[in-house]
Amino acid sequence: MYNDLRSKKIVLVSHCILNQNAISDGTADYPAALNKVVEYLLQSRVSILQMPCPELLCLGLDRENIHGAEQPVVVENTRIRQSMQRPAAIHLINTLVQQMIFQIEEYIRNSFSVLGVIGMNRSPSCGVNTTSLNNQEVTGEGLFIKALREELEKKDIHLKMIGIKGQQTEKALKSITELLNG
Ligand code: SF4
Repeated sequence: MYNDLRSKKIVLVSHCILNQNAISDGTADYPAALNKVVEYLLQSRVSILQMPCPELLCLGLDRENIHGAEQPVVVENTRIRQSMQRPAAIHLINTLVQQMIFQIEEYIRNSFSVLGVIGMNRSPSCGVNTTSLNNQEVTGEGLFIKALREELEKKDIHLKMIGIKGQQTEKALKSITELLNG
């Protein structure tokens, strides 16, 4: 099966890498997408599995604060992190994680290469290496990435995860190259 033109290579990416319009107010770095990252993945013949934006789905586009852009990013991110820890948000995060797990398992079961996860550092939800906590950017994972990693580990699936930032394109491409090269 699947002996057509597909590469059978997949990478999971945070939603806003492809859709900057989903990101919290004041933090978009590009009009539409992280073009260079997207182009690099496509040129590498790697399909992009866009993960859902947990904050948009849990809190709405304005993250429940129409004045969010007036705060320093890490301060607003800390508030968002607290909101994302409400029971309803945790429940939805877990639901979203299960949807991702199902897809990942399907690809693995069919011998596709799931090369890893590209998250967004500093995000309270999608940070991989850094997140926002106590009004600072600190070492650690965002809530969605943490839940995803833990559920994957329960299934003995160990995906490489990297975090990037929209304004650090060269660093991002270097990390992605390492990810793709295993
Ligand atoms: S980092 Fe995650 S939560 Fe934040 S905008 Fe991107 S996809 Fe949404």
